[in-house]
Amino acid sequence: MEELETDGLVVRETQTGTADKIITLLTPSYGRLSVSWKGASSFKKKYSASAQPFAYSTFQLRKKGDYYYVKEAAHIESFINIRYDIERLSLANYICDVACDIAGENEKNEELMRLVLNTLYAISNKPDIPNDLIKGAFEFRLASQEGFEPDLTVCGNCGKEIEGDTYLDVMNGRMICDSCISKIQNPQWSEDEGTSKIYLRLTAKTLAALRHIEKSDIKRFLSFRLEKEDLSNFSAVCEKYLLNHLEHNYKSLDYYKSIKI
Ligand SMILES: [Zn+2]
Repeated sequence: MEELETDGLVVRETQTGTADKIITLLTPSYGRLSVSWKGASSFKKKYSASAQPFAYSTFQLRKKGDYYYVKEAAHIESFINIRYDIERLSLANYICDVACDIAGENEKNEELMRLVLNTLYAISNKPDIPNDLIKGAFEFRLASQEGFEPDLTVCGNCGKEIEGDTYLDVMNGRMICDSCISKIQNPQWSEDEGTSKIYLRLTAKTLAALRHIEKSDIKRFLSFRLEKEDLSNFSAVCEKYLLNHLEHNYKSLDYYKSIKI
């Protein structure tokens, strides 16, 4: 009988009996793992903490047929404050939904794991950081990590340095300067040789934030602040950038937006 040890974050849970659950774990070395946990809800206290959503633990798993079963769990971190605020809870659910979608089964993705853990840590422990800043930084960092990193150095059309406001050419992963954008007709949704043209206006401060997120160490990717107007521009840009590349919408995101103050 195959056994393995892995750290894992509970990103989904389904109650299958009074005490039994199927949990989905996000792991650094095995990607997404679906695991059956008999007696998860009736275990001694030291185990029940590991069965909660957003709990991060070291698991001893046993494989029987096509299924993994939890043999033991050693709790590491709960991100417990997430559950005391409905807006933060809904943001964390969205983060886990996207991570679950990106992580392949049995595919190593340590970078994704680090990003999700750092993001949940901020949601749980950094109430001074606005939710939309955490959300946008997660979305843009994830898009960059997953191969959609745009060139944010110069205008992708004329090669000039960017000054002031600019535009992000979403599907081509480049910037377009203020003078070049006026040469491009109809800078809205339109089809051209199969590529959607999506140009998003960036304020200078949003651009500085995107440059920071793209290049910073993961431990410092949230070390920037934006005033209200820039934050709203930043949040909309990051969301559209990620979702257009993933070609996916999330109900958990709609819910987060519907309850946001
Ligand atoms: Zn230009």
